[in-house]
Amino acid sequence: MPYKFTFDISKAPQHFFIELAIIGNQMGMQKIFEKTLRVLIKKFRIQEISGLDVQDAVVLIQDLLEIQTLNLIQKQEFLKTKKRALFLPHCCRKYMDSRCQAVFEPSLPSYVCAHCSPDCPVNKAEHVAREKGYDVYVLSGASCMPDILKQKNYDGVVGVACGAEVMLSGKKLNCMDVAWQSVSLLKNGCSNTFFNMETLAKTL
Ligand code: SF4
Ligand code: SF4
Repeated sequence: MPYKFTFDISKAPQHFFIELAIIGNQMGMQKIFEKTLRVLIKKFRIQEISGLDVQDAVVLIQDLLEIQTLNLIQKQEFLKTKKRALFLPHCCRKYMDSRCQAVFEPSLPSYVCAHCSPDCPVNKAEHVAREKGYDVYVLSGASCMPDILKQKNYDGVVGVACGAEVMLSGKKLNCMDVAWQSVSLLKNGCSNTFFNMETLAKTL
């Protein structure tokens, strides 16, 4: 797990994410000062909500802002893409044990969801993405990405992952000349993670 800490900001107020978006849009590529982040963290009680100490909260929010900026930079290129895939992290499956009926297909390499649980985030996200013409993969890690991209020649990717993993994957996708957009996990921990389905639907 790239982060040295676990977090859960899924209960942060909607206004926090709106303010984050406004700051991200205004600041663009400029460095966001730590002081600004600390004000934001205090204002929205992110430490209380997430259980993080202030320094880890600063790292997390800085990453979320940077990812938002990278999404903005990539957006026009991404909109031109014709063949797209959605990459979901295996950690957002409803079950991480044998109750998950997904089968890992090494030739892809990806889990193939068996749709056993209507309320599973993978199942829901796959449904939305397929309706929009995406192929969907459930990855056990970013290292699976290059194989899939080489086999299928996607020119656009939407990825869901924790911030640290998005940063790593984004660099790989840039090297492969694939335009991308990302949706950050709001709860990490490598199992029972959480992302906002509405944000994903808008991004797709
Ligand atoms: S819906 Fe798919 S990913 Fe979710 S638990 Fe069932 S088989 Fe696994
Ligand atoms: S995407 Fe999920 S499994 Fe991968 S490092 Fe982040 S929390 Fe862990």
